[in-house]
Amino acid sequence: MSTQSAAEALARTSNRLYALGWMRGTSGNVSVWDGDGLLVSASGVDKSALDATHAVATDGRGEPAPGQPHRPSAEAQVHAAILQSSGAKAAVHVHALSSVVAAARWPNGVPLHDVEQLKGIGRGAHGDPVIVPVVANSQDMADLSRRVVEAMDSGVPCVIVAEHGLYAWGADLSEAVDRTESLDWLFEHALRLDSLPT
Ligand SMILES: [Zn+2]
Repeated sequence: MSTQSAAEALARTSNRLYALGWMRGTSGNVSVWDGDGLLVSASGVDKSALDATHAVATDGRGEPAPGQPHRPSAEAQVHAAILQSSGAKAAVHVHALSSVVAAARWPNGVPLHDVEQLKGIGRGAHGDPVIVPVVANSQDMADLSRRVVEAMDSGVPCVIVAEHGLYAWGADLSEAVDRTESLDWLFEHALRLDSLPT
């Protein structure tokens, strides 16, 4: 993928995730591997207004190449660590409310099982239970990167950061977004089932 087409895909993805309500304020960030390095969404930009010029080139560890008008998101280092560890080519970070509430309810990992939407994260609809890892939040990006990578499960394309939000990844941005949509549905489903009267 060329840098320009990767930058345009990053912008479209940011706009879409904002429209879904998961990037309120200037929260959230998106990254995609363009073949040379990692493009990361710029820091502090409203994601409804983000365009291809806000895709910041980094060296693959989240350090920006010199001479660019924008700084990458502070979480660039976390994206880089996830992609390096998972082999994925794109990652999204959103403050989806469902993920934060689910992590509060199940702080040791969010259990998902026996529902069709699990196929959206590459798992079986039935008889294939999943535990989504949950890690504690940190303002230290090296520390947060380490926690996320240590918690990652090769069969689960996401980690929730408690009291914060969700990281999800995929072979490209479309897959990362599709998985995020499925995960939001799955977390909401688990929470609503849990609140049903017994
Ligand atoms: Zn965040």
